[in-house]
Amino acid sequence: MKNVRCAKCVRCGREYEAVPGLTTCECGGILDIEYNYDYIRSVFSPNSLSDCTDWSMWRYRPFLPVEPDSPPPPLRVGWSPLYRVDRLAQAIGLYRLFLKDDGLNPTASLKDRASAMAVVKAREAGADTIACSSTGNAASSLAGNAAAAGLASYIFVPARAPRGKVAQLQIFGATVISVDGSYEDTFALSKAAIDRWGWYNRNAAINPYLSEGKKTVTLEIMEQLHWQAPDYVALSVGDGCTIAGAWKGLKDLYAAGFIDRLPKLISVQAEGCCPLNRALQTGEPWRPMEENTLADSIAVGVPRNADKALAAVRESGGVAVNVSDEEILAAMRLIGRTCGVFGEPAGVTGTAGVKKAVELGLIDPASTVVSIVTGNGLKDAASGIRAAGEPMMVKPDMADLLSAFEARNIRP
Ligand SMILES: *Cc1c(COP(=O)(O)O)cnc(C)c1O
Ligand SMILES: [Zn+2]
Repeated sequence: MKNVRCAKCVRCGREYEAVPGLTTCECGGILDIEYNYDYIRSVFSPNSLSDCTDWSMWRYRPFLPVEPDSPPPPLRVGWSPLYRVDRLAQAIGLYRLFLKDDGLNPTASLKDRASAMAVVKAREAGADTIACSSTGNAASSLAGNAAAAGLASYIFVPARAPRGKVAQLQIFGATVISVDGSYEDTFALSKAAIDRWGWYNRNAAINPYLSEGKKTVTLEIMEQLHWQAPDYVALSVGDGCTIAGAWKGLKDLYAAGFIDRLPKLISVQAEGCCPLNRALQTGEPWRPMEENTLADSIAVGVPRNADKALAAVRESGGVAVNVSDEEILAAMRLIGRTCGVFGEPAGVTGTAGVKKAVELGLIDPASTVVSIVTGNGLKDAASGIRAAGEPMMVKPDMADLLSAFEARNIRP
């Protein structure tokens, strides 16, 4: 990989050769892939991209840590739409807002970007089995991407994971282990099993290549905005890998000269589980919290990628904002009504946070903001139903329809 310089520990600075099976540093720190930007600039530019017909995350290969002869994985991941959403912007009181709908990936969440990368690296490592623990989406995403590539998968989820997501991974043929415990317990068991059987490890924050896959979301956003950086990029945060990856993508583009300024990050967590935002708001080290929110994908009491996530938000000069479950459900409805986009609770949490940040005066209403919808609402029908309420019921009869309309003040 001529484009990759090394993998460097974010805690102690030790450098490692970027071999496919890389995990964490000996000191326990998380590794970060470092690039040779001079080389990347010599082979890649916004101009060369404009001729590229690969409409997937792999159009950014020179920015990705994969061997030049590694075949891309079968599922089409990435190049999700970026919508300019003026009605939603107006409802929120913001000058300009874009939604990036990453729920349109093949298994319906942003996690596909990391899983596609994991599958390529597992093949480079010669592995035939891959494993992870997950709140749900990393699991279903790994199961789907592994199935498409012909790899076996062992997947650990907490028992609370929404049934739809569990069904998804069963359909993809994963060996599913539903753990009667918290996400933290689930993670610990998966780690012990991976150590015991030597499977390829797709655990968040352990495998340094995953956030390199996730960073393609901001590479795409910037290309879709013609390399004009917005003021803010908003994301929901659980383990912190996604926001760290998003920041890495922006910094890569800046270092390679594709963009001339960096946006600030808006880190959004649920009030009932916000260990990272609490650290950002108080300046104190992060401490574990209970996992008390309906946004299951970000119900992470012990974040695995705290170091990188906190550094990313701070480096960007960003803001941290927490939202209640009620505000998350309201955002599901608002985004649905104004944009025709249906996000799962954690999928709309970023946008709920943008709304709240405007209300609290944390960001200037004259800003341009990109908010990433990280997962599709159909994954968690129970929460969708909770947000939507009961539909109108009528007999197959015009008089009944008229009185139902009357009762609800509907005037067609
Ligand atoms: C995983 C996930 C997140 C958060 O990503 P982290 O890396 O855990 O911070 C947000 N939204 C959805 C839908 C997710 O699946
Ligand atoms: Zn280290």
